[in-house]
Formats: sequence, C-alpha cells, structure tokens
Amino acid sequence: SVRVRFAPSPTGLLHIGGLRTALYNYLFAKGHEDGVFVLRIEDTDQTRYVEGAEEDIINSLVWTGMDFDEGPGKPGGVGPYRQSERKDIYEEYAEQLVEQGQAYYAFDTPEELNDMRERLKKSGNPSPKYDAITRMSMKNSLTLPQEEVDRMLKDGDDYVIRLKVPRRETIRFEDEIRGFVSFESKGLDDQVLLKSDGMPTYHLANVVDDHLMGITHVIRGEEWLSSAPKHILMYEYFNWEPPRMAHLPLIMSPSGGKLSKRKAESEGIPINTRDYIDQKFEPEALVNFLAYLGWSPGDDSEVHTMDELVDLFSLDRVSKGGAVFDYKKLIWYNEHYLRDKPAEKLWPRVREIAGEHGLEPDEEYMKQIIELMKDRVSKIEDFVTMGRFFFDDPEEYEEKAVKKWKDNSGELLQAYVDKIDELDEEDFEAKTLKNKIKEVIKAHDVGFGPLMMPLRVAVSGMGYGPDLTPTIELLGKETTIRRIHRAIE
Ligand code: GLU
Repeated sequence: SVRVRFAPSPTGLLHIGGLRTALYNYLFAKGHEDGVFVLRIEDTDQTRYVEGAEEDIINSLVWTGMDFDEGPGKPGGVGPYRQSERKDIYEEYAEQLVEQGQAYYAFDTPEELNDMRERLKKSGNPSPKYDAITRMSMKNSLTLPQEEVDRMLKDGDDYVIRLKVPRRETIRFEDEIRGFVSFESKGLDDQVLLKSDGMPTYHLANVVDDHLMGITHVIRGEEWLSSAPKHILMYEYFNWEPPRMAHLPLIMSPSGGKLSKRKAESEGIPINTRDYIDQKFEPEALVNFLAYLGWSPGDDSEVHTMDELVDLFSLDRVSKGGAVFDYKKLIWYNEHYLRDKPAEKLWPRVREIAGEHGLEPDEEYMKQIIELMKDRVSKIEDFVTMGRFFFDDPEEYEEKAVKKWKDNSGELLQAYVDKIDELDEEDFEAKTLKNKIKEVIKAHDVGFGPLMMPLRVAVSGMGYGPDLTPTIELLGKETTIRRIHRAIE
C-alpha cells in the first residue's frame, strides 16, 4: 500500500510552500486505502538547526488538520523518525558503496577545495563541480591506490565519502507529474554522502530512509528535481527499487519569479504558516487555497473540504508550470469559510480575540453581532475591530465618510431622532427603523443617501459596515440617540 513522507528540515518556521508539499502528501496518502502519511524530521545538518522548528512544523500540521500516521511521538514500525536519532544507520551504507566501488574516500582539505573552485571559475566555469581531483590525478585509475587510502585513514586524515558519478551516462526516470525526465551524468557533482564528522548529507540520509521506511512515493518541491538523478543512481547502486517521484511546481509571486521570502515580504504576503495562525486565518481556507495552488480537480468547482479534497486529489492533475500565489483568492476563501460557520462555532474564538482587545462581550449580544457582520468580514478579527462600535461610542469619525456630511445632514438626523424616540422597546426593530427612515426622507424630499450616510457615520464612526437598521436595533434606542446627538453637535 501507499506510504508517503513529509520530510522537512527544521531550519526555521514552516513556510507555506512546505505546507503545500505536506498537504499534497497527505491528500495522496488518505486518498488510498490504508495509505500512510509519515513525518520525518531531516535534522542532520546541525549548523542549520533551529530550536523550536520541529514544534512549529507539528503545530502547523495539527492546525490544518493533517494528522500524520507515523512520526516523532507517533511510533510506527520503522522509526525513529528524526534523522539525528538514526545517525548510526547511515555510515554503513556509505561504506557499502565504497566497497562496491561506487563511492570513494576524498581527502581534500577545505583549502584545496577552495583552490579548485577558484581555478575552475577562472577558466570560465560559472558553477564549478567537484572535479574529482583524487580520481583524476591518478592517471587512469579512478581512485587513489588502496595503500594510499589506507595510509591516510590510518593517519587520521579527514575524509568525506563521495558518490562516484559515471562520466557519461544518461539518467532517466519517470516523474509522476513531469513524465520522463533525463539528466546527463556529466552535469552532476560527485556528491558528498558522508561528511568528515561522520554525519550523512541530505542525499544519503534521504535515500536510505526512504528505502528503510518503505516509502512508495516521494512528493516534494521542484527545487529537489536536480537531486533526483543522484538519488536514482544511488538506488541503482544499492540495488533498491526507487520510489515513484513527483516534483511539485514552484510557487510564484504575483509579480513574477519564485515566491521567495524576500519577495513575499515586499508584496505583503505572509510566508510562514505561523503567520497565518497568528493572523487568525481559517485553516480550512488555507488548506483549500493551497490545494488549488498547483492542482485542480478539472471542473470549475473551487470550494472543498479536506475530505472532499482527499477524494478528488490525484497527482496527474498537478500542473507542471509554476503556480501564482493569489492573495486575494486566499482572502476570498477565508471569507467563504467564515460565512460557512455558525455564530455558535465562531463565538469561542471571537470571545478570545475580544479579550485581547480588552472586551468582555455578552455571549448572546456577540452572537447577534457575528450573524450581522458575517458577510462583511474577511478575517475573524474583523468582528471585533470593525465591530468595535458595538461596544464603545466612536471616538472619531472616518475622514472619508465625514466628507459626505452635507448642510442638511444635521437636520435629517434630528428628524430621525424625533421619530425613533417615540418607539417602544419592542418596536425598536430593524423593519420599523427602516420605515422611519423612509418617512423622514419622504418628508424632506431627499433620497436614502443623505440620511443613511450620516446616520451610519453617527452610530458607527465608519462609512461602511453591516446592514444599518439591524445594526441600530442591536445598539438599542438609548445608545443610538446618544450617538446621533453627539454627531450633530
Ligand atoms: N529535507 C528536505 C527538505 O527540507 C526534504 C526534501 C525531500 O523531500 O526529499 O525539503
């Protein structure tokens, strides 16, 4: 059965590109009977390790509802799931390749490697590869003589183990998304597999673990495509069956080019999953949005829950070309999922946000506000920020709206106050309040605008907002009249 893995390196907060990779893995696994979604933490590069990053990855997965089946804290049969806890596994595999003559010890010092790079650059090579000095310098021999190697090992010289990439070979494999891809081996580096401190590189650990963990499909970002031929070569050398591979399209910025951290920042796009959590996005919205960032079900449907996405998803509908990040579309999804949720469900979160704003709303009152504002808000916070006037008299009036204030505004407002002042408590409801507006404008022979606009500004301080008369009903008679008087003055 299908086994996939999400294999992030804990080098910082999980960005949305990584989250999309996780999502496609999750959808693919859950779309297959008994499919297993593994979380593997690739933390062999100690220099890039960031404290708290693993926690952030797991939080992000939990927040979006992608529960992994096996991973840190969720043992399956093939753990541990942190590569740093599997350190001892990798060396023997590197040694195996050395024994088979498919990898070799390289004793180059950092200075030598530097010189080599400089030399190759000077001779006009903009991206110099390791030129296998130790292999080349020995006339026709492909490796140092064994005695030489033994001597240096005995002397305790630092070494790495490098993959012996064939000189002239075409490496081909079939990508689930791209179809057949091929690479010329001469363009590939003799990749380091084991570093001088005995730690594996990404390439060795990744291949060994995918094999040992029984991974059937590797689904990852396009930036790993260039590593794939090295991996294919290693599977061949180990005589293991390689997993199927699927390289996902890049996420592009609206202004073109890859959506880098810097680009996202300058275009006001939150880049880390953490940002979306902090900004209180609806997780369903982010999931739905990310699902469509490089995939579509092939009809024009756009809104789907996680369960529906699981049913619909397939790798052959993932696009090859870059997927443009459309922030407006994300907001559209967020608005959709907010409207979709009953006030009952939103209330606990709204209460918390209100608390952060120093408010302690009454439950019934707040739920009515939620219902009223639902089709005006983009983010859940708007219930509290845009809805602030439901709690406090406006301290200032929106400038743009005040400009619409006309000479007759005060007079019209006073006329309206006179009308609603007569209303009993039980008559103070939207429909009647609307009728009173009609009466006033009829008597003064004006349209709706000249009264509605200043009325809205007077009660809410803003030029836009939820339906006006239900808003006034909720505010109540006393508050409404007090605010109108204040505005007229
Ligand atoms: N550790 C790699 C990363 O950070 C995993 C790449 C892969 O999936 O092979 O993305």
